[in-house]
Amino acid sequence: MIRQPWGWFSLLLVVFLAFLAPWASAQDGAIKLADGVYGIKGGRGGEAINTGFVVGDRGVFVYSCEIGDYDRRVQAIQSVAGGKLIRFVANGHYAGDDTLCNHLFAEQGALVLGSKELARQLLPYWPKRMEEELKQGKIKKEYLEGKKVEMAMPVITFDDKITLDLGSHLVELIFVGKAHTPDNTIAWLPKEKVLFVNDLLFVELHPTADGRSDIANWQRILRQLASWSPVTVVPGHGVFAPGNGAKPLLEMDRYFDTMRARIKTMKDAGRSLDDIKKGIRAELGEFAKWPRERAIPGTTEQFYRELSTSR
Ligand SMILES: [Zn+2]
Repeated sequence: MIRQPWGWFSLLLVVFLAFLAPWASAQDGAIKLADGVYGIKGGRGGEAINTGFVVGDRGVFVYSCEIGDYDRRVQAIQSVAGGKLIRFVANGHYAGDDTLCNHLFAEQGALVLGSKELARQLLPYWPKRMEEELKQGKIKKEYLEGKKVEMAMPVITFDDKITLDLGSHLVELIFVGKAHTPDNTIAWLPKEKVLFVNDLLFVELHPTADGRSDIANWQRILRQLASWSPVTVVPGHGVFAPGNGAKPLLEMDRYFDTMRARIKTMKDAGRSLDDIKKGIRAELGEFAKWPRERAIPGTTEQFYRELSTSR
């Protein structure tokens, strides 16, 4: 008779995995924000893009997904989707960390929805970005090779707003205009008061603003969104938790107010842009220690430009 040591091994493995499972779901899985509404935290020490998704009666809606983390995110979605398919996909803006999963979802039958401005930005950008990713070789080749921008582009476009009726949930996709980039779009669940804002919000991280941005408009949008009194806000980057409310939006507004005031003072004192870029971080007080300090010079330049144009 042949013994089966693998039988014991498998049993041990199952017991081990059973103990591991709750830990894994807390670290890697879907975070429940409301009934059927979830967020997935980005990796890389929390700096990578967060995903928001809704499991509705009529299928799953996904907002923002990083292709390098596609497998984990799809797993997290499936773990709570109860067999429902991913049917709708939208992006906060055209950047690769947000849009490079679109074609993978579309190949499985999902419809990509996006503002006309997002479509305008994405069309020339996507093929170049995919080529770069292929060269870098960090992402599974089968996710990149032979893929066409047509699959990533929105199938249904809108000017200002489109409402998705998932039966159990309403999701309003709202084009808010130029802020971080010219094409920022949020997803708002009016019943649950949950807001997915993508890169309009970086939490406790220096945000990226540059020549594509309009920071003054960005701040108006932040204050407007805060006035809707969201129960939970999922930022593009940085930490979030159920019930975090409008506070992080107002914090971002205060960050920009602080930075603009300090830059204006230095500019009015006749200091050069280069000089201001070197000195600004030390002037940011409570915000100075935030990670992502690489974003500070670009934001400083953009503030300098906005301060130099009469608006
Ligand atoms: Zn981003």
